[in-house]
Amino acid sequence: MSEKAWLSKELSNAKIMCLACAHSCTLMEAEYGKCGVRKVVGGELQLLVYGLAAAVNVDPVEKKPMFHFLPKSRAFSIGTVGCNLSCKFCQNHDISQYPKEHEQKIVGHELSPERIVEMTIENKCESIAYTYNEPIVFFEYTYDTAKLAHAKGLKNIYVTSGYETHKAIDLLAPYIDGMNIDIKSFSDEFYKEICGARLKPVLEAVKYAHEKGIWIEITTLLIPGKNDSDEEIRGIARFIASVDASIPWHLSAFHPTYKMLDVPRTPESTLLRAYKIGQEEGLKYLYVGNVDNEDYESTYCPSCKNRVIDRSGNIGQFVSNELDEKGTCPHCEYIVEGVWK
Ligand code: SF4
Repeated sequence: MSEKAWLSKELSNAKIMCLACAHSCTLMEAEYGKCGVRKVVGGELQLLVYGLAAAVNVDPVEKKPMFHFLPKSRAFSIGTVGCNLSCKFCQNHDISQYPKEHEQKIVGHELSPERIVEMTIENKCESIAYTYNEPIVFFEYTYDTAKLAHAKGLKNIYVTSGYETHKAIDLLAPYIDGMNIDIKSFSDEFYKEICGARLKPVLEAVKYAHEKGIWIEITTLLIPGKNDSDEEIRGIARFIASVDASIPWHLSAFHPTYKMLDVPRTPESTLLRAYKIGQEEGLKYLYVGNVDNEDYESTYCPSCKNRVIDRSGNIGQFVSNELDEKGTCPHCEYIVEGVWK
């Protein structure tokens, strides 16, 4: 299936510029964008994966990870093929890089925005997560689905690398309630060499989406020897604190995969070091994934320090939330920041 990729503009020289992500691809007839799923056909930019899901699952919202967003609820999660980045450590490279690695072939099964919303309700999910590959590359599909979902009282989550243009964020802001944005590194070199992208647009997207009132959580995958120096970790922590110290920061462990099989796993000591740096920089909510210790996955009230959301077992398995629908701490009445109803 294919639909007009209307988040684009015609230029004077028979070219079309895509306005979805910071790559700003300028394309001639029959050319594909860097993501491999937007192509000029008959003088129009087309989204080749509209209505074609490549991955569909019902997941605990904690798995996105979103820890301050309807705790204990389920998110109907969808993705397509294609991605605007080319991270050498991508855990979903089988779908994200599929078109680029299979001579631009597009795969997926038909799933209309209407059917996604129906399935979300049938599966007793409270939100739809656009995830697995980068959702901004299938912007129009997410937009139409998110709009229908809102009309039915559902929430929407983008799990993204933060490469959205301001224009895309303006359009998404009324319908996307939460975003988990990766800050993959604090080095432009890392973004260029390892991800085929740049750092600056990501930092700008975090600031702008926050300004537009979207609830933001950040994830950083710490990769030994690549982005895990004290200096770099502190840079990310300071940046997050400069936007809003109540933005949760998820620190997660790298496992050798895809084109980075020669790099070892992240030791627990690195994750805990980053946790401490985050605390030193004043971040209120820090979480460490892949460590068998619920102390680092639970939420503490920043005011009285009591544990207010307990998370144990496999991710999303046991979640016990003491906060009310406003996020009020039952011990001291501090309002814990997040989306709680
Ligand atoms: S979404 Fe795809 S076509 Fe559009 S600017 Fe980004 S990489 Fe290029």
